[in-house]
Order: sequence, then C-alpha cells, then structure tokens
Amino acid sequence: MANRSRLLGVDLGGTKIEAALLDLQGAVTHRARCKTPRENYAETLSAICELCEQLESSANLTERLPLGICTPGSPSPDTGLMRNCNSTSLNGHTLCNDLEEICARPVRMANDADCMTLSEASDGAGTEEQVVFGVILGTGVGGGAAINRSLLHGPNAISGEWGHNPMPLARVNELPESLQYPRLCYCGREDCIETWLSGPGLALTHEQLHREPIVVEQLSKGTPNNRHRETLALYNDLLSTALAGIVNVLDPDLVVFGGGLSNIPFIYTEVPRLLASKVFSDVCRTKLKPAKHGDSSGVRGAAWLWGNA
Ligand SMILES: [Zn+2]
Repeated sequence: MANRSRLLGVDLGGTKIEAALLDLQGAVTHRARCKTPRENYAETLSAICELCEQLESSANLTERLPLGICTPGSPSPDTGLMRNCNSTSLNGHTLCNDLEEICARPVRMANDADCMTLSEASDGAGTEEQVVFGVILGTGVGGGAAINRSLLHGPNAISGEWGHNPMPLARVNELPESLQYPRLCYCGREDCIETWLSGPGLALTHEQLHREPIVVEQLSKGTPNNRHRETLALYNDLLSTALAGIVNVLDPDLVVFGGGLSNIPFIYTEVPRLLASKVFSDVCRTKLKPAKHGDSSGVRGAAWLWGNA
C-alpha cells in the first residue's frame, strides 16, 4: 500500500451508486452518490468513474486510487462475464475489465455479502476475530467468509453461498403441520436455505402458520405478539439448524449478520442457545453479532478490498 493515503470503494446498487473514501483506519472521509443509470451499461461505467474522480478531487488527491467495487451478482470464473445481477444491464459484460479500462485504474470486485463480511472483519463487529462468517438475511440470503481480514476465494467464486444449500428440515425440532413445502427457489432447486430464512421466506412461514400477512419490520421494532413469537421461534430454529452446518465446516469465531432481518433482537438471544445443541461439539463458542456498519457495509467492504494490498 505504498504511500496510499486513502481507500476508494463504490457500492453499485440497482437504484443508486454510492462511493466513499476511507482513511487507512477505516473512517469515511468523503462520500458521493448518484442514481444508477437505468439499464444503460455504458452510462453506468461513466457514472462510476465520475464519482471516483469527484471524490479524489474533493480530497485534493493527486494520486489515482485503485477501486474496490461492490456489485450484485458475480463474474463467472470461466468467462469473466457478470451473472445473477438484478441490475440486468450488467449481465453478460466483463465489468471489472471494462471499468479498469474506462477509469484507468486497477479494480477489484466482490458481491454484497462478501463486502459486508470484509467490512465487518476489517473494522467492524469482527475486528478482533480471526475467522468471520458474514450472513445477509434480507430479500435473499447471502454469505461470505473472511480469514485474518481477507476474503476466502475459491475456484468457483462461490464461497459463502450457503443460501442455496438445502435447508436440513429433518434437523429442525418441530415443523408445524400447516407449513407447506417443498418451497421452490428461483435457482430451480427446492427448499434452499434462502426460501426459509430470507424476508419473503419468513413472511411465507408466518402466512402459512397464522393466515395473516406480516411486515418484517414489525419483528424488529415494538413488542411481538404471540403469533409473531411463534413464527420467530420457528425461524430461529431454522436459522440455528442452517448455521450449525457452517460452524461444523468453518468453525468461525464470529457470525456477523447484515440485511433487514439482522435487526431482529431475538436472533442474538435465542439462536446461540439453539446453535449449541446442534453443532458437533459439546460447546459452541462462536459469537453472533449484528453488523456494526449497517447500510454502509457495501461501500466500506469494497474499499477494504485494497486494504491488505
Ligand atoms: Zn436456491
């Protein structure tokens, strides 16, 4: 990191692009954002470059910083072409190479779950920990693993993607009869962890148990009623069952949670107890914490992609 005074990160979202400069301790010194150009790839690239230049100029930097970028989806390890992006204009493009060319700077890229994990491992909830598994519980379920503040990468570029493992339903303590499954996942498989633990998955569970809709925010704010408690008890049972698989394989010091459902306080009181009864060990010392940086995790993690360079 020779003479570099800042880290530059961009979070490329479906509706907005957010950019930030961090100092080497992780404090955000400058921010900028703009709307994501609608379904226009070339304009999206230009917008990202402009934000980077804008930040460097407002910080009076003469150096051109390398860029870390948080994206939806990921490049195929075979072709480098983007896949699984909900901002579909990115799919089929070599985003990383194109940005390097247009912005004339080196670029590293990671998805939102990996960025959240790296952000929290670098200077968030996991800063004191060696092995951190990050979980996003939101519209979908994603994950990432960091070891000594570096992301775990593999040949398939899918480490942490536990959301599309099958939910081990046979290990759940009690499944009420009113639950209907298998649940079909968008990926074509049945009963993926995501179909049970995402926000829509939780809402479907509540609907099937109690024949009423639920707004997930109701569970994180205010006092849950008995029906909410019942749904949450089942959710925590499912979550601990799914996490036991992670703990048995990776044995993380910390599991850190981001996404809308990470604000549900019961997760942190109930799941550790359930988890201890489900892992292949007489004790479970793995800690569970909410992400410290919340919605900034994407842009911060993107910047930290160059933190250990
Ligand atoms: Zn799936």
